[in-house]
Amino acid sequence: MLRRLVIVAAVAACAGLPAAGFCQGASMNDLAESYMRLVLALGQHDADYVDAYYGPPEWRTAEEKRKRSLAEISADASGTLASLAALSPPPSEELLRLRHEYLERQLQALRSRVAMLAGVRFDFDAESQALYDAVAPTHTEAEFAQILAELERRLPGDGPVSRRYEAYRAAFIIPKDRLAAVFAAAIDGCRSRTLEHIALPANESFKLEYVTNKSWSGYNWYQGNYQSLIQINTDLPIYIDRAIDLACHEGYPGHHVYNVLLEQHLVRERGWPEFSVYPLFSPQSLIAEGTANYGIEVAFPDAERRTFERDVLFPAAGLDASQVDEFYETMELAEKLSYAGNEAARRYRNGDIDAAAAAKWHETYALMSPERAAQRVRFIDQYGAYVINYNLGKDLVARYIERHAGRDPARRWSEFAKLISSPRLPSGLED
Ligand SMILES: [Zn+2]
Repeated sequence: MLRRLVIVAAVAACAGLPAAGFCQGASMNDLAESYMRLVLALGQHDADYVDAYYGPPEWRTAEEKRKRSLAEISADASGTLASLAALSPPPSEELLRLRHEYLERQLQALRSRVAMLAGVRFDFDAESQALYDAVAPTHTEAEFAQILAELERRLPGDGPVSRRYEAYRAAFIIPKDRLAAVFAAAIDGCRSRTLEHIALPANESFKLEYVTNKSWSGYNWYQGNYQSLIQINTDLPIYIDRAIDLACHEGYPGHHVYNVLLEQHLVRERGWPEFSVYPLFSPQSLIAEGTANYGIEVAFPDAERRTFERDVLFPAAGLDASQVDEFYETMELAEKLSYAGNEAARRYRNGDIDAAAAAKWHETYALMSPERAAQRVRFIDQYGAYVINYNLGKDLVARYIERHAGRDPARRWSEFAKLISSPRLPSGLED
């Protein structure tokens, strides 16, 4: 009787797996394939979902033809999760264990995304927990008001501090005709520093494009075979501090390097195919955005960034290099307001405030111009709780790296390289 029950359970666990024949004793790679096909299937319902895919093209075509319903995708994901749970004993080698936990958590997030698309409402924190394996801390207006008061003292003139901030920053816009030269210099600086510490495949490379009419300021579209397409949105003025941000974040050692290392070490060397697909609304995004943001500090520790700005980027942009210190002191203060964006997104997604109030909140507490605040609200409409991946992601990654490597620059590089070559989950950053 017991034996019969076990067989029934095994069959039930296999229901919904796409290729018949691997129910009994499904391997990790079988389940990885099932996951990849599920991500592609969900991409049929959500145009933003598949951020990168360089697995077999015929799998995508097959899912386009098959067009599984949301209910089928959810049931099939549950079947794959059950088969994954049946794989035992849990691996003892750390990387194998991380692979197993990662696949499980990514599948759970996929199921949550399906539920959202089917109309289930998640509040902001439930959404970020379900999709990104993390919840952002809450902050009060009083905390932001304190930082705003400090900024007010720094910024000359009358009127609201947001206007004074904007007026001050106007002197640091990269002229449009110098954008290409400034970005080339920034990417060169980020790439050469990365290559001193991380060995990359010889044919890695990227293409840079300028685009308009997007809700984001920059995007890396990984193409596979160690190639990226990096797009920079020129809808709004681009300030000089964004040059290193974008070059490191989208390129080196950020998204481009992250994807290259996953392809090199996990997909090719280990033969783990699931890393050739990247579902945007998943825990992988917190690691991707967090490492891309923290990577700036890894590449330019302490005073190195200001030196590079003074010697290379300000001159390339035709800006007054004697202003570097004062500008970056002000920017560092303003960066402390980044969590104000999470608060606006949380209230807006929870239905406590409307779009106009969310924009106003960004203007008041995150010091955004009306145009940038409106762009940000469009971003929240499109990507929801994804906003936490940037600042909370960076803070979680910073704590993880600094706990393992201290502030020693070389050790930080090696821990950073290890992190972006492995499938560690956001909740695993506490280890
Ligand atoms: Zn990013």
